[in-house]
Amino acid sequence: MKLFFVIPQVLTLASAAALLVREEKVNYNGFKVFRIDTGNDLQTIQEELATFSLEPWNIDASKHMDVAISPPQLSSFEALSLNVTVMHEDLGADISAEFDAAADAGLRKRALPAVTWFNSYHAYNDHIQFLRDLQSALPSNSEVITSGTSVQGRAITGIHLWGKGGKSTKPAIVFHGNVHAREWITSMTVEYLAYQLVSGYGNDASATSFLDAYDWYILPLVNPDGFVYSQTTDRLWRKNRSAAPSGSRCLGTDINRNWPYQWDVPGGSSTDPCDQTYRGRTAGDSPEISGLTSLLTRLRDTTGIKLYVDWHSYGQYILTPYGYSCSAKATNQAKHDSLAAGTGNAIRTAGGTRWTTGPSCSTLYATSGSSTDWVGDVAKAEFSITFELRDTGTNGFVLPASQILPSGQEQWAGVKYLIPNL
Ligand SMILES: [Zn+2]
Repeated sequence: MKLFFVIPQVLTLASAAALLVREEKVNYNGFKVFRIDTGNDLQTIQEELATFSLEPWNIDASKHMDVAISPPQLSSFEALSLNVTVMHEDLGADISAEFDAAADAGLRKRALPAVTWFNSYHAYNDHIQFLRDLQSALPSNSEVITSGTSVQGRAITGIHLWGKGGKSTKPAIVFHGNVHAREWITSMTVEYLAYQLVSGYGNDASATSFLDAYDWYILPLVNPDGFVYSQTTDRLWRKNRSAAPSGSRCLGTDINRNWPYQWDVPGGSSTDPCDQTYRGRTAGDSPEISGLTSLLTRLRDTTGIKLYVDWHSYGQYILTPYGYSCSAKATNQAKHDSLAAGTGNAIRTAGGTRWTTGPSCSTLYATSGSSTDWVGDVAKAEFSITFELRDTGTNGFVLPASQILPSGQEQWAGVKYLIPNL
């Protein structure tokens, strides 16, 4: 949208406070925007404007300069009697009109969170604020949701997005990330995908069609306690923060071995509470999992689930059913595998990274009580896929922040292949 190109260039002539408080909306009421015909007098005009606090909108001033003038400067600017045409009589009013036009189309937007969000990793509370900000940028087509609470009482928070026809009228697509605490790239990448859907709805053909066709449930961070612990204490923490079972000094359950389906198949998890893949005391006993199974069961029983993706790192894999068995096949296994292969190709084309695709157990390793098996067979998702994001081992879990944006961009390219081919 034009607005997002305009704002950064006029920030320098807005109040200094606006620069310091990023979330505060800059007020352009009464600003007037002029196109100054510079003709052969560019140098003279630049000298005359030297005392004004302004920055031209355009780069090449050889023919004209387009400048926004604040209300207090207007009379002295007009006293210069330059050869001007008026671009905006009242910039603030025109910006409001732009918002109102969007509202007329059902797309009323507040400012999106800054895309610089994807330049670094963030604290848990900031992730929650990001989701709230994202929701407020598309308020008529989204809501903040929770799927219950963690062991330590944190709300497991996400965003529900929908398109024409209203909410909860289309088959569901469910994405969730950061099940494993140390896999920080996953929440950032899932948030990037949500950002593309929100920012693109109404002006990007793919995003618009995706929201019009499906109800999206995106939960970037479903293991908040473990995530916080990975930031405060142990960067490589994986599990949740459930109490140690009696007789053990080790706490935490691997909540991707705790889903209540094929939970006790030997070889795909550990019964040792000190192990990284400890499956929990009983199937589904983690509150994080019981919340997710409630949400997914409700979706199964209402709109149905078209696609579920559990986002992990690392290794650059796209994994199809099943985890618990290397011989069992989904009824639509061939379609699963062709979707995974096509998505891998699309990501490689976009990002240059290579992706290994195929059934989870035979391609990577056996997993019992894992998300995709439960969501496929119990919640009846038509497609149930696990991604293992960047990289293939150069940095592993501690992926440099400079790769957040490339990871998001290549996964958006993958999504743009995956969704239309479902
Ligand atoms: Zn993982």
